[in-house]
Amino acid sequence: MIFISPHLVKVFYKTMNSATQKHVALISVHGDPAIEIGKEEAGGQNVYVRQVGKALAKLGWQVDMFTRKASREQSSIVQHSSNCRTIRLVAGPEEFVPRDNIFGYAPEFVQAFLDFQQQNGIEYGLVHTNYWISSWVGMELKKIQGSKQVHTYHSLGAIKYKSVSTIPLIAKTRLSVEKAVLETAERIVATSPQEKEHMRSLVSTKGNIDIIPCGTDIKRFGSIDRQQARESLEIDPETNVVLYVGRFDQRKGIETLVRAVAQSKSRSQGNLKLIIGGGSRPGQSDGIERDRIEQIIDELGMRDFTIFPGRLGDKILPNYYAAANVCVVPSYYEPFGLVAIEAMASGTPVVASDVGGLQFTVISEETGLLAPPKDDAAFAAAIDRILMNPAWQRQLGQAARKRVETKFSWDGVAAQLSRLYSQLLEAENVASTAQTAAVSA
Ligand code: UDP
Repeated sequence: MIFISPHLVKVFYKTMNSATQKHVALISVHGDPAIEIGKEEAGGQNVYVRQVGKALAKLGWQVDMFTRKASREQSSIVQHSSNCRTIRLVAGPEEFVPRDNIFGYAPEFVQAFLDFQQQNGIEYGLVHTNYWISSWVGMELKKIQGSKQVHTYHSLGAIKYKSVSTIPLIAKTRLSVEKAVLETAERIVATSPQEKEHMRSLVSTKGNIDIIPCGTDIKRFGSIDRQQARESLEIDPETNVVLYVGRFDQRKGIETLVRAVAQSKSRSQGNLKLIIGGGSRPGQSDGIERDRIEQIIDELGMRDFTIFPGRLGDKILPNYYAAANVCVVPSYYEPFGLVAIEAMASGTPVVASDVGGLQFTVISEETGLLAPPKDDAAFAAAIDRILMNPAWQRQLGQAARKRVETKFSWDGVAAQLSRLYSQLLEAENVASTAQTAAVSA
Protein backbone atom coordinates (compact mmCIF):
# COMPACT_ATOMS: atom_id res chain seq x y z
CA MET A 1 0.00 0.00 0.00
CA ILE A 2 1.30 3.50 -0.85
CA PHE A 3 1.10 6.07 1.94
CA ILE A 4 0.32 9.62 0.73
CA SER A 5 0.91 12.27 3.34
CA PRO A 6 -1.75 14.99 3.88
CA HIS A 7 0.94 17.55 3.01
CA LEU A 8 1.49 15.92 -0.39
CA VAL A 9 -2.25 15.86 -1.05
CA LYS A 10 -2.43 19.58 -0.27
CA VAL A 11 0.51 20.41 -2.54
CA PHE A 12 -1.00 18.26 -5.32
CA TYR A 13 -4.45 19.86 -4.91
CA LYS A 14 -2.94 23.33 -4.99
CA THR A 15 -0.90 22.55 -8.10
CA MET A 16 -3.91 21.16 -9.95
CA ASN A 17 -6.15 23.94 -8.78
CA SER A 18 -3.92 26.76 -9.93
CA ALA A 19 -2.97 24.99 -13.14
CA THR A 20 -6.56 24.44 -14.26
CA GLN A 21 -8.36 27.50 -12.89
CA LYS A 22 -7.32 31.09 -13.04
CA HIS A 23 -8.75 31.99 -9.64
CA VAL A 24 -8.07 35.29 -7.90
CA ALA A 25 -9.48 36.95 -4.77
CA LEU A 26 -9.57 40.75 -4.85
CA ILE A 27 -9.75 41.93 -1.24
CA SER A 28 -11.10 45.37 -0.45
CA VAL A 29 -12.22 45.34 3.18
CA HIS A 30 -13.62 48.87 3.29
CA GLY A 31 -14.18 49.66 -0.41
CA ASP A 32 -17.21 47.65 -1.53
CA PRO A 33 -17.02 47.15 -5.32
CA ALA A 34 -20.77 46.60 -5.60
CA ILE A 35 -21.89 49.76 -3.78
CA GLU A 36 -23.10 53.09 -5.20
CA ILE A 37 -20.06 55.31 -5.81
CA GLY A 38 -19.67 58.96 -4.91
CA LYS A 39 -21.08 59.23 -1.41
CA GLU A 40 -19.84 58.50 2.10
CA GLU A 41 -16.34 57.12 1.59
CA ALA A 42 -17.00 55.33 -1.69
CA GLY A 43 -14.74 56.53 -4.48
CA GLY A 44 -11.81 55.48 -6.63
CA GLN A 45 -10.94 52.28 -4.79
CA ASN A 46 -14.45 50.88 -5.17
CA VAL A 47 -14.41 51.72 -8.89
CA TYR A 48 -10.93 50.25 -9.35
CA VAL A 49 -11.78 46.92 -7.72
CA ARG A 50 -15.06 46.57 -9.58
CA GLN A 51 -13.68 47.46 -13.01
CA VAL A 52 -10.50 45.43 -12.62
CA GLY A 53 -12.61 42.48 -11.44
CA LYS A 54 -15.03 42.68 -14.35
CA ALA A 55 -12.27 43.13 -16.93
CA LEU A 56 -10.25 40.21 -15.51
CA ALA A 57 -13.37 38.04 -15.66
CA LYS A 58 -13.68 38.86 -19.37
CA LEU A 59 -10.12 37.56 -19.77
CA GLY A 60 -11.18 34.21 -18.28
CA TRP A 61 -10.30 34.72 -14.60
CA GLN A 62 -12.61 33.44 -11.90
CA VAL A 63 -12.84 36.62 -9.83
CA ASP A 64 -14.15 36.82 -6.26
CA MET A 65 -14.13 40.29 -4.71
CA PHE A 66 -14.26 40.27 -0.91
CA THR A 67 -15.46 43.19 1.16
CA ARG A 68 -16.97 43.87 4.61
CA LYS A 69 -20.74 43.75 4.96
CA ALA A 70 -21.77 47.25 6.00
CA SER A 71 -25.52 46.84 6.52
CA ARG A 72 -28.01 44.07 7.22
CA GLU A 73 -29.91 44.93 4.04
CA GLN A 74 -26.93 44.24 1.78
CA SER A 75 -26.89 40.87 0.01
CA SER A 76 -24.02 38.63 0.98
CA ILE A 77 -23.21 37.85 -2.64
CA VAL A 78 -23.63 40.08 -5.70
CA GLN A 79 -23.10 38.32 -9.02
CA HIS A 80 -21.67 40.76 -11.62
CA SER A 81 -21.17 38.20 -14.39
CA SER A 82 -20.92 34.41 -14.58
CA ASN A 83 -17.35 34.42 -13.23
CA CYS A 84 -17.23 37.65 -11.23
CA ARG A 85 -18.93 38.30 -7.90
CA THR A 86 -18.72 40.46 -4.79
CA ILE A 87 -18.75 38.52 -1.52
CA ARG A 88 -19.60 40.44 1.64
CA LEU A 89 -18.16 38.92 4.80
CA VAL A 90 -19.39 39.71 8.28
CA ALA A 91 -16.55 41.28 10.27
CA GLY A 92 -17.62 43.68 12.98
CA PRO A 93 -21.03 45.37 13.11
CA GLU A 94 -23.18 45.21 9.98
CA GLU A 95 -23.19 48.97 9.65
CA PHE A 96 -21.08 51.75 8.12
CA VAL A 97 -17.78 52.09 9.98
CA PRO A 98 -15.35 54.92 9.01
CA ARG A 99 -12.18 53.47 7.52
CA ASP A 100 -9.97 54.70 10.38
CA ASN A 101 -11.96 52.45 12.74
CA ILE A 102 -12.08 49.26 10.66
CA PHE A 103 -8.66 47.75 11.35
CA GLY A 104 -9.80 46.22 14.65
CA TYR A 105 -12.16 43.95 12.66
CA ALA A 106 -9.44 42.70 10.29
CA PRO A 107 -8.78 39.45 12.26
CA GLU A 108 -12.52 38.66 12.07
CA PHE A 109 -12.34 39.32 8.34
CA VAL A 110 -9.49 36.83 7.95
CA GLN A 111 -11.47 34.21 9.86
CA ALA A 112 -14.59 34.84 7.79
CA PHE A 113 -12.48 34.52 4.62
CA LEU A 114 -11.05 31.18 5.78
CA ASP A 115 -14.56 29.96 6.68
CA PHE A 116 -15.82 30.95 3.24
CA GLN A 117 -12.98 29.03 1.61
CA GLN A 118 -13.72 25.94 3.65
CA GLN A 119 -17.47 26.06 3.04
CA ASN A 120 -16.93 26.46 -0.70
CA GLY A 121 -13.97 24.12 -1.21
CA ILE A 122 -11.73 26.88 -2.58
CA GLU A 123 -8.27 27.95 -1.56
CA TYR A 124 -7.09 31.17 -3.16
CA GLY A 125 -3.46 30.82 -4.15
CA LEU A 126 -3.43 34.47 -5.21
CA VAL A 127 -4.91 37.50 -3.46
CA HIS A 128 -4.82 41.08 -4.71
CA THR A 129 -5.30 43.38 -1.74
CA ASN A 130 -6.42 47.01 -1.82
CA TYR A 131 -5.57 49.71 0.78
CA TRP A 132 -3.53 49.05 3.90
CA ILE A 133 -6.26 47.33 5.95
CA SER A 134 -6.66 44.64 3.29
CA SER A 135 -2.88 44.37 2.95
CA TRP A 136 -2.78 43.10 6.53
CA VAL A 137 -5.44 40.50 5.66
CA GLY A 138 -3.30 39.41 2.68
CA MET A 139 -0.18 39.11 4.82
CA GLU A 140 -2.09 36.92 7.28
CA LEU A 141 -3.33 34.68 4.44
CA LYS A 142 0.23 34.36 3.24
CA LYS A 143 1.29 33.20 6.72
CA ILE A 144 -1.65 30.80 7.11
CA GLN A 145 -1.87 29.21 3.66
CA GLY A 146 0.97 30.63 1.58
CA SER A 147 -1.24 32.78 -0.69
CA LYS A 148 0.74 34.95 -3.10
CA GLN A 149 0.00 38.62 -2.60
CA VAL A 150 -0.31 41.52 -5.04
CA HIS A 151 -1.07 44.84 -3.37
CA THR A 152 -2.33 48.26 -4.50
CA TYR A 153 -2.10 51.01 -1.87
CA HIS A 154 -4.65 53.56 -3.23
CA SER A 155 -3.28 55.98 -0.62
CA LEU A 156 -0.06 56.11 1.39
CA GLY A 157 -0.18 56.98 5.08
CA ALA A 158 3.27 58.57 4.79
CA ILE A 159 1.80 61.18 2.44
CA LYS A 160 -1.62 61.52 3.97
CA TYR A 161 -0.29 62.31 7.44
CA LYS A 162 1.85 65.13 6.09
CA SER A 163 -1.28 67.01 5.02
CA VAL A 164 -3.57 66.57 8.04
CA SER A 165 -3.53 68.65 11.20
CA THR A 166 -4.53 65.84 13.59
CA ILE A 167 -2.82 62.49 13.18
CA PRO A 168 -5.23 59.64 14.06
CA LEU A 169 -4.31 56.99 16.64
CA ILE A 170 -4.18 54.34 13.95
CA ALA A 171 -1.30 56.12 12.13
CA LYS A 172 1.55 54.17 13.71
CA THR A 173 -0.04 50.81 12.91
CA ARG A 174 -0.86 51.89 9.37
CA LEU A 175 2.69 53.05 8.65
CA SER A 176 4.21 49.81 9.91
CA VAL A 177 1.70 47.64 7.97
CA GLU A 178 2.40 49.66 4.80
CA LYS A 179 6.14 49.07 5.20
CA ALA A 180 5.69 45.35 5.91
CA VAL A 181 3.54 44.74 2.83
CA LEU A 182 5.94 46.58 0.55
CA GLU A 183 8.76 44.37 1.78
CA THR A 184 6.88 41.04 1.71
CA ALA A 185 4.23 41.02 -1.04
CA GLU A 186 5.14 39.17 -4.23
CA ARG A 187 4.34 42.36 -6.10
CA ILE A 188 3.19 45.89 -5.34
CA VAL A 189 1.21 47.67 -8.04
CA ALA A 190 1.98 51.39 -8.17
CA THR A 191 -0.58 53.22 -10.29
CA SER A 192 1.84 55.93 -11.41
CA PRO A 193 5.64 56.47 -11.53
CA GLN A 194 5.09 59.22 -8.93
CA GLU A 195 3.47 56.77 -6.51
CA LYS A 196 6.36 54.33 -6.97
CA GLU A 197 8.82 57.11 -6.23
CA HIS A 198 6.96 57.97 -3.01
CA MET A 199 6.95 54.33 -1.91
CA ARG A 200 10.69 54.20 -2.39
CA SER A 201 11.50 57.51 -0.73
CA LEU A 202 8.94 57.40 2.11
CA VAL A 203 8.20 53.74 2.85
CA SER A 204 11.04 51.33 2.00
CA THR A 205 13.75 50.64 -0.53
CA LYS A 206 12.98 46.90 -0.36
CA GLY A 207 10.27 44.99 -2.25
CA ASN A 208 9.07 44.51 -5.84
CA ILE A 209 7.06 47.26 -7.49
CA ASP A 210 5.42 47.22 -10.96
CA ILE A 211 3.73 50.26 -12.45
CA ILE A 212 0.26 49.44 -13.79
CA PRO A 213 -2.02 52.48 -14.00
CA CYS A 214 -5.71 52.74 -13.17
CA GLY A 215 -8.04 52.71 -16.13
CA THR A 216 -11.39 53.95 -17.31
CA ASP A 217 -14.24 52.86 -19.52
CA ILE A 218 -13.36 54.48 -22.83
CA LYS A 219 -16.67 53.45 -24.40
CA ARG A 220 -18.90 54.90 -21.69
CA PHE A 221 -16.91 58.11 -21.29
CA GLY A 222 -16.85 59.77 -24.69
CA SER A 223 -20.10 58.21 -25.86
CA ILE A 224 -22.03 61.49 -25.97
CA ASP A 225 -21.10 64.87 -27.49
CA ARG A 226 -21.27 68.20 -25.72
CA GLN A 227 -24.41 69.45 -27.41
CA GLN A 228 -26.46 66.32 -26.62
CA ALA A 229 -25.10 66.23 -23.07
CA ARG A 230 -26.12 69.85 -22.52
CA GLU A 231 -29.59 69.24 -23.88
CA SER A 232 -30.01 66.31 -21.48
CA LEU A 233 -28.92 68.46 -18.55
CA GLU A 234 -30.76 71.60 -19.73
CA ILE A 235 -27.59 73.67 -19.92
CA ASP A 236 -27.47 76.54 -22.39
CA PRO A 237 -24.95 75.99 -25.26
CA GLU A 238 -23.30 79.38 -24.56
CA THR A 239 -22.63 78.75 -20.87
CA ASN A 240 -19.09 78.09 -19.67
CA VAL A 241 -19.28 75.02 -17.43
CA VAL A 242 -16.65 74.32 -14.78
CA LEU A 243 -17.06 70.86 -13.26
CA TYR A 244 -15.88 69.09 -10.10
CA VAL A 245 -16.66 65.41 -9.53
CA GLY A 246 -15.68 63.50 -6.41
CA ARG A 247 -16.04 62.87 -2.74
CA PHE A 248 -16.55 65.70 -0.28
CA ASP A 249 -13.35 65.54 1.71
CA GLN A 250 -11.25 68.55 2.67
CA ARG A 251 -8.17 67.05 0.99
CA LYS A 252 -9.99 67.04 -2.32
CA GLY A 253 -9.43 70.82 -2.37
CA ILE A 254 -12.96 71.87 -3.39
CA GLU A 255 -12.34 75.12 -1.50
CA THR A 256 -9.43 75.93 -3.83
CA LEU A 257 -11.73 75.49 -6.83
CA VAL A 258 -14.45 77.68 -5.32
CA ARG A 259 -12.03 80.48 -4.43
CA ALA A 260 -10.43 80.22 -7.87
CA VAL A 261 -13.75 80.56 -9.66
CA ALA A 262 -14.65 83.49 -7.38
CA GLN A 263 -11.69 85.50 -8.64
CA SER A 264 -11.64 84.28 -12.27
CA LYS A 265 -12.14 86.68 -15.17
CA SER A 266 -14.67 84.22 -16.59
CA ARG A 267 -16.94 84.92 -13.62
CA SER A 268 -17.24 88.57 -14.54
CA GLN A 269 -18.36 87.62 -18.06
CA GLY A 270 -21.60 86.38 -16.52
CA ASN A 271 -22.18 83.11 -18.42
CA LEU A 272 -20.49 80.79 -15.97
CA LYS A 273 -21.87 77.69 -14.25
CA LEU A 274 -19.99 75.86 -11.50
CA ILE A 275 -21.14 72.28 -10.97
CA ILE A 276 -19.89 70.53 -7.84
CA GLY A 277 -20.93 66.88 -8.25
CA GLY A 278 -20.74 64.03 -5.74
CA GLY A 279 -21.35 63.67 -2.05
CA SER A 280 -24.32 62.72 0.06
CA ARG A 281 -27.08 64.91 1.26
CA PRO A 282 -26.22 67.09 4.27
CA GLY A 283 -26.27 65.08 7.51
CA GLN A 284 -24.23 62.12 6.17
CA SER A 285 -20.58 61.57 7.13
CA ASP A 286 -19.34 63.64 4.20
CA GLY A 287 -22.00 66.30 4.82
CA ILE A 288 -19.70 68.37 7.05
CA GLU A 289 -17.44 69.24 4.13
CA ARG A 290 -20.45 69.88 1.92
CA ASP A 291 -21.86 72.32 4.49
CA ARG A 292 -18.48 74.06 4.76
CA ILE A 293 -18.23 74.45 0.97
CA GLU A 294 -21.79 75.74 0.70
CA GLN A 295 -20.99 78.33 3.35
CA ILE A 296 -17.99 79.57 1.35
CA ILE A 297 -20.16 79.72 -1.78
CA ASP A 298 -22.62 81.94 0.11
CA GLU A 299 -19.88 84.17 1.55
CA LEU A 300 -18.45 84.71 -1.93
CA GLY A 301 -21.88 85.42 -3.44
CA MET A 302 -21.69 82.48 -5.86
CA ARG A 303 -25.00 80.79 -5.09
CA ASP A 304 -26.77 81.91 -8.28
CA PHE A 305 -24.35 80.14 -10.62
CA THR A 306 -23.31 77.12 -8.54
CA ILE A 307 -25.17 73.81 -8.45
CA PHE A 308 -24.76 70.72 -6.28
CA PRO A 309 -26.39 67.82 -8.12
CA GLY A 310 -25.33 65.33 -5.38
CA ARG A 311 -24.09 61.86 -6.19
CA LEU A 312 -23.79 61.34 -9.95
CA GLY A 313 -24.86 57.84 -10.93
CA ASP A 314 -23.24 55.70 -13.62
CA LYS A 315 -25.74 56.64 -16.34
CA ILE A 316 -25.65 60.41 -15.97
CA LEU A 317 -21.96 60.91 -15.12
CA PRO A 318 -20.71 60.75 -18.76
CA ASN A 319 -23.17 63.56 -19.62
CA TYR A 320 -21.71 65.85 -16.96
CA TYR A 321 -18.15 65.29 -18.15
CA ALA A 322 -19.15 65.83 -21.77
CA ALA A 323 -21.15 68.98 -20.96
CA ALA A 324 -18.22 70.64 -19.16
CA ASN A 325 -15.74 73.03 -20.76
CA VAL A 326 -13.20 72.20 -18.10
CA CYS A 327 -13.03 69.67 -15.27
CA VAL A 328 -11.06 70.70 -12.20
CA VAL A 329 -9.25 68.25 -9.90
CA PRO A 330 -7.89 70.44 -7.09
CA SER A 331 -6.77 67.66 -4.68
CA TYR A 332 -3.99 68.30 -2.17
CA TYR A 333 -2.66 64.90 -3.14
CA GLU A 334 -3.82 62.12 -5.46
CA PRO A 335 -2.04 58.75 -5.90
CA PHE A 336 -3.81 58.41 -9.27
CA GLY A 337 -7.11 60.33 -9.61
CA LEU A 338 -9.73 58.53 -11.72
CA VAL A 339 -11.80 61.66 -12.26
CA ALA A 340 -9.03 63.22 -14.36
CA ILE A 341 -8.96 60.34 -16.86
CA GLU A 342 -12.75 60.06 -16.96
CA ALA A 343 -12.99 63.73 -17.96
CA MET A 344 -10.15 63.30 -20.45
CA ALA A 345 -11.84 60.23 -21.98
CA SER A 346 -14.89 62.46 -22.46
CA GLY A 347 -12.80 64.95 -24.46
CA THR A 348 -12.80 67.54 -21.67
CA PRO A 349 -9.56 69.30 -20.67
CA VAL A 350 -8.52 69.06 -17.03
CA VAL A 351 -7.04 71.62 -14.66
CA ALA A 352 -5.44 69.65 -11.85
CA SER A 353 -3.11 70.03 -8.91
CA ASP A 354 0.51 69.45 -9.82
CA VAL A 355 0.82 66.44 -7.52
CA GLY A 356 1.12 62.64 -7.53
CA GLY A 357 -0.63 60.65 -10.25
CA LEU A 358 -2.13 63.81 -11.76
CA GLN A 359 1.37 64.67 -13.00
CA PHE A 360 1.25 61.36 -14.88
CA THR A 361 -2.25 61.55 -16.35
CA VAL A 362 -2.53 65.27 -17.18
CA ILE A 363 0.14 66.60 -19.53
CA SER A 364 0.25 70.31 -18.86
CA GLU A 365 -0.28 72.45 -21.99
CA GLU A 366 -1.23 69.31 -24.00
CA THR A 367 -4.28 67.73 -22.33
CA GLY A 368 -5.00 70.41 -19.73
CA LEU A 369 -3.06 72.43 -17.19
CA LEU A 370 -1.38 71.72 -13.86
CA ALA A 371 -1.36 74.27 -11.03
CA PRO A 372 0.24 74.20 -7.58
CA PRO A 373 -2.15 72.67 -5.00
CA LYS A 374 -4.09 75.12 -2.79
CA ASP A 375 -3.08 78.05 -5.08
CA ASP A 376 -6.45 79.74 -5.88
CA ALA A 377 -4.86 82.36 -8.11
CA ALA A 378 -3.01 79.80 -10.23
CA PHE A 379 -6.19 77.72 -10.61
CA ALA A 380 -8.13 80.86 -11.57
CA ALA A 381 -5.57 81.74 -14.26
CA ALA A 382 -5.57 78.17 -15.62
CA ILE A 383 -9.39 77.99 -15.77
CA ASP A 384 -9.50 81.38 -17.55
CA ARG A 385 -6.90 80.36 -20.11
CA ILE A 386 -8.96 77.33 -21.11
CA LEU A 387 -12.37 79.00 -21.05
CA MET A 388 -11.22 82.03 -23.00
CA ASN A 389 -9.73 80.12 -25.90
CA PRO A 390 -12.38 77.72 -27.33
CA ALA A 391 -10.16 76.49 -30.18
CA TRP A 392 -7.34 75.56 -27.81
CA GLN A 393 -9.91 74.05 -25.45
CA ARG A 394 -11.05 71.69 -28.23
CA GLN A 395 -7.47 70.79 -29.08
CA LEU A 396 -6.66 69.98 -25.45
CA GLY A 397 -9.82 67.86 -25.21
CA GLN A 398 -8.93 65.84 -28.32
CA ALA A 399 -5.38 65.21 -27.09
CA ALA A 400 -6.79 64.21 -23.69
CA ARG A 401 -9.10 61.63 -25.27
CA LYS A 402 -6.22 60.21 -27.31
CA ARG A 403 -3.98 59.88 -24.25
CA VAL A 404 -6.63 57.90 -22.35
CA GLU A 405 -7.35 55.64 -25.35
CA THR A 406 -3.69 54.66 -25.64
CA LYS A 407 -2.75 54.41 -21.97
CA PHE A 408 -5.68 54.07 -19.60
CA SER A 409 -8.40 51.65 -20.78
CA TRP A 410 -9.59 49.08 -18.17
CA ASP A 411 -9.09 46.29 -20.69
CA GLY A 412 -5.43 47.30 -21.15
CA VAL A 413 -4.94 47.58 -17.39
CA ALA A 414 -6.55 44.19 -16.78
CA ALA A 415 -4.36 42.60 -19.46
CA GLN A 416 -1.27 43.85 -17.61
CA LEU A 417 -2.59 42.57 -14.27
CA SER A 418 -3.52 39.25 -15.85
CA ARG A 419 0.05 38.80 -17.11
CA LEU A 420 1.38 39.60 -13.65
CA TYR A 421 -0.98 37.14 -11.91
CA SER A 422 -0.14 34.39 -14.42
CA GLN A 423 3.59 34.91 -13.85
CA LEU A 424 3.13 34.60 -10.09
CA LEU A 425 0.94 31.50 -10.36
CA GLU A 426 3.34 29.89 -12.82
CA ALA A 427 6.21 30.52 -10.43
CA GLU A 428 4.08 28.89 -7.72
CA ASN A 429 3.35 25.89 -9.97
CA VAL A 430 7.01 25.38 -10.79
CA ALA A 431 7.83 25.50 -7.07
CA SER A 432 4.94 23.15 -6.14
CA THR A 433 5.79 20.65 -8.90
CA ALA A 434 9.42 20.61 -7.77
CA GLN A 435 8.22 20.06 -4.18
CA THR A 436 5.88 17.23 -5.24
CA ALA A 437 8.70 15.57 -7.16
CA ALA A 438 11.06 15.93 -4.19
CA VAL A 439 8.54 14.47 -1.71
CA SER A 440 7.64 11.51 -3.99
CA ALA A 441 11.30 10.70 -4.77
N1 UDP B 1 -17.82 59.21 -8.57
C1 UDP B 1 -19.08 58.89 -9.04
N2 UDP B 1 -20.12 59.69 -8.71
C2 UDP B 1 -19.97 60.78 -7.94
C3 UDP B 1 -18.68 61.12 -7.48
C4 UDP B 1 -17.62 60.30 -7.81
O1 UDP B 1 -19.27 57.90 -9.75
O2 UDP B 1 -20.96 61.46 -7.69
C5 UDP B 1 -16.68 58.35 -8.96
C6 UDP B 1 -15.81 59.00 -10.01
O3 UDP B 1 -16.41 58.90 -11.28
C7 UDP B 1 -14.50 58.22 -9.85
C8 UDP B 1 -14.47 57.91 -8.36
O4 UDP B 1 -15.80 58.12 -7.87
O5 UDP B 1 -14.56 57.03 -10.61
C9 UDP B 1 -13.50 58.81 -7.61
O6 UDP B 1 -12.21 58.34 -7.86
P1 UDP B 1 -10.89 59.22 -7.67
O7 UDP B 1 -9.73 58.33 -7.94
O8 UDP B 1 -10.95 60.43 -8.54
O9 UDP B 1 -10.94 59.71 -6.17
P2 UDP B 1 -10.99 58.92 -4.76
O10 UDP B 1 -12.41 58.80 -4.40
O11 UDP B 1 -10.32 57.58 -4.96
O12 UDP B 1 -10.23 59.78 -3.82
